[in-house]
Amino acid sequence: MRILVTGGAGYIGSHTVVELLNEGHEAVVVDNLYNASEVSLSRVEEITGKKVTFYKADIRDRQAMDEIFDKESIECVIHFAGLKAVGESVAKPLEYYENNIGGTLTLAESMRDHGVKNIIFSSSATVYGDPAFVPITEQCPKGTPTNPYGWTKHMIEQMLTDLHTADPEWNVILLRYFNPIGAHKSGKIGEDPKGIPNNLLPYVAQVAIGKLPCLGVFGDDYDTPDGTCIRDYIHVVDLAKGHVAALKKVLENPGVKVYNLGTGNGQSVFDVVKAFGKACGHEIPYEVKPRRAGDVPVVYSDASLAKEELGWTAEYGIDEMCADSWRWQSQNPNGYEG
Ligand code: NAD
Ligand code: UDP
Repeated sequence: MRILVTGGAGYIGSHTVVELLNEGHEAVVVDNLYNASEVSLSRVEEITGKKVTFYKADIRDRQAMDEIFDKESIECVIHFAGLKAVGESVAKPLEYYENNIGGTLTLAESMRDHGVKNIIFSSSATVYGDPAFVPITEQCPKGTPTNPYGWTKHMIEQMLTDLHTADPEWNVILLRYFNPIGAHKSGKIGEDPKGIPNNLLPYVAQVAIGKLPCLGVFGDDYDTPDGTCIRDYIHVVDLAKGHVAALKKVLENPGVKVYNLGTGNGQSVFDVVKAFGKACGHEIPYEVKPRRAGDVPVVYSDASLAKEELGWTAEYGIDEMCADSWRWQSQNPNGYEG
């Protein structure tokens, strides 16, 4: 299939483009490079030996989107483009609503007008809020988001669902990611956050390489076995393969479908710190800090629906995630900047 990948130069997008090309699909990427480098796409071409068609454009630019859909025969859109920093979204709600919701509206309008009615959307486990139960199944009720980023995911899920209600020709697959980490085995592509990372893994990786002195562990007094929060970390390559599996599903005209993409296992912050220390060959210095506002103690998925309906399961464990993340970090200490 010929797939338009919005945000395809970014972290999850670039890994997904690799898996699409490996499976014989064609990828057209649109990205405004706000949080990415075009170098990621040349690395994707190195890894796969295949070409990626790239448009540097903003999904909010209706004319640019129309031109892309006019020119390329797109069968399905995988929609990653968006802003994703939780803390920043609290400080800049309008920018987040405008980019994420406004961007999706423009994209969907252009798709509709070009008869492209298949979309796979990057949602997040954040829509469950403080989950009613764990492991979290797709039946778990959506919670109240605690920040504008979470609200954009919540609202876009609803918008795309309403689109299918109005016109059943639309197929909408909502993929709720748990915590993507790791990098491609080649060490050529990975997560390249700008500034000081907010998320655990890129922070730990930068401590490991000596760019940051010490990890702050946000709370060790939670009601969990070692007192630190538990998350369902998933290898980004597994996550990318989940999108290829979802594409097959789209061909069955499934209507609206929701899938958790996680491993089904929970790891604590200390588990991750230990695994990363093993991967990089030295201990990660850390200091326990107060709890971070809004953190939920325990989040992990029940991943059985994706297994049953998409034939997809995550393969990699935490040690491989950390080893691959370390390979990327140590081979590219300054990310794509060289
Ligand atoms: P990322 O920032 O690396 O990728 C997003 C890409 O979208 C970037 O390359 C950015 O330049 C591009 N972009 C942003 N706004 C755009 C616009 N208006 N027009 C065109 N391009 C635009 O982030 P990621 O980690 O790869 O996340 C991809 C998607 O997955 C996002 O929607 C994110 O919210 C979602 N998600 C991520 C995580 C995570 O932990 N990384 C978890 C759950 C969901
Ligand atoms: N965390 C931490 N120190 C950091 C960043 C994160 O202790 O510098 C903890 C955080 O409190 C949470 C876990 O690591 O329990 C995962 O955080 P992340 O921001 O990566 O993901 P999310 O909270 O969105 O699941």
